[in-house]
Amino acid sequence: MSYKAEYIWIDGTEPTALLRSKTKILADGAEPPVWGFDGSSTNQAEGHASDRVLRPVFTCPDPIRGGANLLVLCEVEEINGDPHSSNTRAMLRPIAEQYAAQESWFGIEQEYTFFKGSRPLGFPEGGGFPGPQGPYYCGIGADAIFGREIVELHLDRCLAAGLELSGINAEVMPGQWEFQIGPAGPLEVADHMWVARWLLYRTAEEFGVEATLDAKPARGDWNGAGAHTNFSTRAMREGYDAIITACEALGEGDKPMEHITQYGVGIESRLTGAHETAPWNKYSYGVSDRGASVRIPWQVEVEKKGYIEDRRPNANVDPYVVTRLLVNTCCAALEK
Ligand code: ADP
Ligand code: MN
Ligand code: MN
Ligand code: MN
Ligand code: MN
Repeated sequence: MSYKAEYIWIDGTEPTALLRSKTKILADGAEPPVWGFDGSSTNQAEGHASDRVLRPVFTCPDPIRGGANLLVLCEVEEINGDPHSSNTRAMLRPIAEQYAAQESWFGIEQEYTFFKGSRPLGFPEGGGFPGPQGPYYCGIGADAIFGREIVELHLDRCLAAGLELSGINAEVMPGQWEFQIGPAGPLEVADHMWVARWLLYRTAEEFGVEATLDAKPARGDWNGAGAHTNFSTRAMREGYDAIITACEALGEGDKPMEHITQYGVGIESRLTGAHETAPWNKYSYGVSDRGASVRIPWQVEVEKKGYIEDRRPNANVDPYVVTRLLVNTCCAALEK
């Protein structure tokens, strides 16, 4: 007897990486081994020496094929065992380890938009626009909601895979949705996010629909798509001084630009200062403030402990990068 292992990896496409996957048939009970692929077809190698290595790092049940079949998330390596330059998970590992004692948790809110052909799902196919934003967020009814059957199937599949998914909601623009992963540690939240993204694309594909993480999928008076990143350490979950220390650390010196430039492609198009965002070039934090770069939720201010929400990351951010930056900046300041 045998089973199917779907090997999933992040490619080298610039400026935003794509997900790739292929299937290996394995003997019943066999652990998924190291495998290889043609890096010249994924922007990860030149043609003359194109073998690249897939090293399994996170495995879960395959909710699409069912049975004993598995999804196998991999890091990409050179044949000498070095991490490939596109391997951002390898850059997160040492930082996560360095500050492990602070017990960082993350909850990432992944917004995304369905497209049918060249237009967002719910936009009239022949041209023109749907009614303005208002009824769509957490809405109900065929005039407000587009793609719920895909969203429900994706949700069930994420739960069947054992991913730490904590909720879903319809978003402000038609065809726009959100799911949240977390709270979980930096590597776990990011691994689960990449697998949840793979399941999203794969599920939408069955309906002839594309799911995109484009940060500004429709020009004009339509909300962009973000990946608000909620963050806490044990000290932040126990007291308010640590909350303020983290908010201040994110605003110090070059930190705002260091973060913004790595928070996803097209960030200036989304962080305009309108549509529930802060301008990309001005760092701010505030209680209950959805127009600030970083929000302290109201109940965190009341209870004087909890977490902060970095509202800046784009939907197309790499979760290995945003978790590394937040741990590096905030945990270093909290250690002082
Ligand atoms: P919003 O009100 O901004 O829409 P959501 O409910 O969509 O917030 O997402 C909040 C996220 O924060 C969830 O994924 C949740 O699991 C996560 N979260 C809750 N508590 C913490 C914490 N202490 N540290 C990190 N993340 C947390
Ligand atoms: Mn071949
Ligand atoms: Mn949310
Ligand atoms: Mn949202
Ligand atoms: Mn949010």
